[in-house]
Amino acid sequence: MRIVLVGPPGAGKGTQAAYLAKNLSIPHISTGDLFRANISQGTQLGQKAQEYMRAGQLVPDEITIGMAKDRMAQPDAEAGFLLDGFPRNLGQAEALDGILRETGTKLDAVLDLEVPEDEVVRRIAGRRMCRKDSSHIFHVEYTPPKIEGVCDICGGELYQREDDKEETVRKRLEVYHTETEPIIDYYKAQGLVVTISALGKVPEVTKRAMEALGRVA
Ligand code: AMP
Repeated sequence: MRIVLVGPPGAGKGTQAAYLAKNLSIPHISTGDLFRANISQGTQLGQKAQEYMRAGQLVPDEITIGMAKDRMAQPDAEAGFLLDGFPRNLGQAEALDGILRETGTKLDAVLDLEVPEDEVVRRIAGRRMCRKDSSHIFHVEYTPPKIEGVCDICGGELYQREDDKEETVRKRLEVYHTETEPIIDYYKAQGLVVTISALGKVPEVTKRAMEALGRVA
């Protein structure tokens, strides 16, 4: 299956993508994670992306599209993938169509995670990520780790993403509304969008998402 996951920051895309990708046996491709990995490895791409991420802005398309395309060309993504955080604007959506055309493939579904804005802010403010594995995500209130600051799964250090600070979050939400939301209409016109509520416990949302995807593919 080839799936795109969309939703505002804090909708739980990263958390859900990790479970969905596992259930569907496809790789989870997160452009945010790819950028963060490049930053921690000190690559040139990471250095370029960092300033935009810090400001809550989109990294320019000429950097992002090439990176996403390279990742999608890896052998593990041949039979399908779950894209998380890409595409994030109309230019990227059109570029993705071009990439899929080149490989003679197409998307099966665009899963839209819906969550009210006040909940988004609450979720992001309390979100803590594991330094060792970005799919290990906690929340100080909703899913607290057993020991504060330590990942339950692997013992890695938990930290707050720099772009999860309040002012940057506001900017990221604004960018989501102006740049990313239009891609939902773009995909609606192709009959690909499946919208589900992202409220509730993590396994409940995963179940809802699997059922919704089962109906379309
Ligand atoms: P995420 O982990 O998906 O929330 O992404 C974190 C940040 O990485 C975003 O706020 C952007 O600065 C950058 N980023 C991730 N994906 C993209 C993309 N598809 N296009 C441009 N910037 C992106």
